[in-house]
Amino acid sequence: MSYPARWWHPEPDGKLLCTLCPRYCRLGDGQAGFCYIRKNEGGELVSLGYGRTTGFASDPIEKKPLNHFLPGTSILSFGTAGCNLGCKFCQNWDMSKARLDTLASAPVTPAEVVDLAVAQSCPSVAMTYNDPVIWAEFAVDIAKEARARGVRSVLVTAGYVTDEARAELYENIDAANVDLKAFTDDFYHKVTFSHLGPVLETLKWIKRETKVWLEITNLMIPGLNDAESETKQLAEWIGAELGDEVPLHFTAFHPDFKMRDIPRTPPSTLTRARQLARDAGLKYVYTGNVHDRDGGTTCCPRCAAPVIERDWYAIRPVGLRVGAGGVGSCRACGARIAGHFDLPVRASDGRRRGLGLVYGGD
Ligand code: SF4
Repeated sequence: MSYPARWWHPEPDGKLLCTLCPRYCRLGDGQAGFCYIRKNEGGELVSLGYGRTTGFASDPIEKKPLNHFLPGTSILSFGTAGCNLGCKFCQNWDMSKARLDTLASAPVTPAEVVDLAVAQSCPSVAMTYNDPVIWAEFAVDIAKEARARGVRSVLVTAGYVTDEARAELYENIDAANVDLKAFTDDFYHKVTFSHLGPVLETLKWIKRETKVWLEITNLMIPGLNDAESETKQLAEWIGAELGDEVPLHFTAFHPDFKMRDIPRTPPSTLTRARQLARDAGLKYVYTGNVHDRDGGTTCCPRCAAPVIERDWYAIRPVGLRVGAGGVGSCRACGARIAGHFDLPVRASDGRRRGLGLVYGGD
């Protein structure tokens, strides 16, 4: 199943240069790129991932993680095979390091993906599990179809994409969670086989040039990217370059793939990181992959009242008011809560899902 790829051109020596991600693979006839799923077939670059998923799941949107975008709803989640990064700690390595022909992936069209979301009462779809950048042609077509039918589209990505492809990839995307894996190029180079600079460029571009709702995840790996000085720098950079309303999630690592000799992240590391980021002025900072009700709860940035309590994926909108257009505010003091709290799709039984008790304000 070869689909014509975009973002490439032939080089003078006859090889093809893929310009989709900053890896810029040069491919001779018959060669596939680092990501496995883009290939030179007879002088044309093709995507082997178009229409091929590794299966679908209906997840809590908080699992992506997104805490300020349609909280309390389910999101239809899926990925393909391959990846353009080489993270030694990959937590989805069975998919990201797989070749498509080793996976039982059924062909599906963008319209069928959206049909499935609607049938499962999911107001949004997530392109996740492996990085959707490498199957951008499919992601673009799904997001276009979803927007036409009132379903929201989410990218869960490492943000490793070129200037050339960014605008088209994000044109119909509503929200993204971007993995900021560390704040040193040394970590990116040695542990992920990529570079920090293009990720920071993507984050700035999303915030400045688009209306995409943005949240950021930092997976903390003991001894590799959890130094307090690095956490402070990361949080200060977010505040200065992206603003203090971008939610930041510090999540726990578990031993996996090529890093089975490193212990799990202690919850105290995440709690300390959360405090450092809040001290740096960020308004919405969370811990993840651990049981931590305080670290999962959204509080009003003005009066500190709990607004949305989270205990794993149990969501209680204890102090949120939702007004017209899905604008959120604190019930206690009226301060605006950044995010998108509206629900664009009605379930087949005519009832709204998610934060139904407070939807529409009072
Ligand atoms: S998208 Fe894949 S083929 Fe293209 S440059 Fe990146 S890793 Fe290489």
